[in-house]
Amino acid sequence: MTEEPRRRPILKLKNPPKVVIPGARPAPPPPPVQHDWKCKPCGAGLSVAADLADDAEIRCPACNAKLGTAGDFRADPPPARLRARPAKR
Ligand SMILES: [Zn+2]
Repeated sequence: MTEEPRRRPILKLKNPPKVVIPGARPAPPPPPVQHDWKCKPCGAGLSVAADLADDAEIRCPACNAKLGTAGDFRADPPPARLRARPAKR
């Protein structure tokens, strides 16, 4: 008497439960970074935070050159010692 071994049914989750975090929303895509200034020595873009003190030293994030103070960046027109130029929008 030959009996086929009973096949065990393969259990599949047809609808896997989704992990839902209450109150969580899909993160919106980050806005494109807009730089206000460009480092004169290397051309990297940078922005100057509005809450910096006027005498705060601004350095290029890429080449670490001292570009001027936050006050220099806010002056209109920018002083000649400022080593950054306004980025074109
Ligand atoms: Zn630089």
